Amino acid sequence: MRMIYNDAFALETHTQPADTLIDASSDVRLRSLTITVGNLCNLQCRMCNPFSSSRIAADPIHSGWFGHRSDRDESKDIESAYAEIIESCSSITHLQISGGEPLIIPKIHKILQSLIDSGRAQNVVLMMPTNCTGVGDPVLARLSKFKEVHLRMSLDGHGPANEYIRYPSKWSEIVDTIIRFKGLPHAKLSIGFTLSALNVFEVVRTAQFGDAMGIPFTFGVVHTPSRLSPNILPQATLEQAAVEIDDAVDSLTLNPSKRELRAISRLLRSFARQDREENEELWTKFVQFTNDLDRSRGQSIEASLPDLVTSLRVEKGPWQRNIFHILPKDRATPVSKAS
Ligand code: SF4
Repeated sequence: MRMIYNDAFALETHTQPADTLIDASSDVRLRSLTITVGNLCNLQCRMCNPFSSSRIAADPIHSGWFGHRSDRDESKDIESAYAEIIESCSSITHLQISGGEPLIIPKIHKILQSLIDSGRAQNVVLMMPTNCTGVGDPVLARLSKFKEVHLRMSLDGHGPANEYIRYPSKWSEIVDTIIRFKGLPHAKLSIGFTLSALNVFEVVRTAQFGDAMGIPFTFGVVHTPSRLSPNILPQATLEQAAVEIDDAVDSLTLNPSKRELRAISRLLRSFARQDREENEELWTKFVQFTNDLDRSRGQSIEASLPDLVTSLRVEKGPWQRNIFHILPKDRATPVSKAS
């Protein structure tokens, strides 16, 4: 998972390597612990990378944009280390977990179950991001045993836009999962929106979706890969998106969400004031990357993000077909490779 959940995390945090913390005879009293257990994930979101998602690592087109494949699976090495830390440190009250997708990682569930079995779960606040897919009833039952569960639900758009960016998720499954999360005792939910070049016109729809469900909207910004940063967008598109957001802020009822939207609007306007020329190379990469993934996944930016494509026409003209990677199917029917 790219975004790390820090809410309610004002406690002192140790950042030492795991093996230096394991000493049952020491007087270490950990209050909070952050663990990252491998990159197992069931999605391959466009702004993610092979180190965070096993599905991207297994996709030669997507991982090819990072120059190499990743077989990262650090979970084998650290599972026993983390289990021992948790076992040794009865003082832990806040446990923050990231992946991959934490809720589908079996080793995470072993750790959670050990906390439940030892009777300590009721004293532990659990915090994690989740993509809201692949969550079955046993997972929900386990989460319900903890003192609090803070779930930052990663949504990068509404409906088809989210399905496009967070491939191959299904919106209907996500909505169903959110409803079930809301039924958890002591659950504190938020939407974690990753602002990128793809979704500046999805901010309002996503915040309104959260507002209707009483779930606050929060956001982070893509800086890497830089080809997906919102500041590669043309000035007119950035300004149009900012105006759309400004116009919608007062339609929201949740004040934290209003603050986040105002912050996004200011950010987009500041990007719009930057020198646009320096982004031309990144713009080309953005188009090639998008087309590479569209072709390999059978998706279409025009169909999934029509507001963005329409806005881009003002400065960039019709969407271009440049590609970078040649797909195996192209070898039978040659396609010219654009620069
Ligand atoms: S859910 Fe998306 S962003 Fe999170 S780890 Fe998986 S691919 Fe990456």
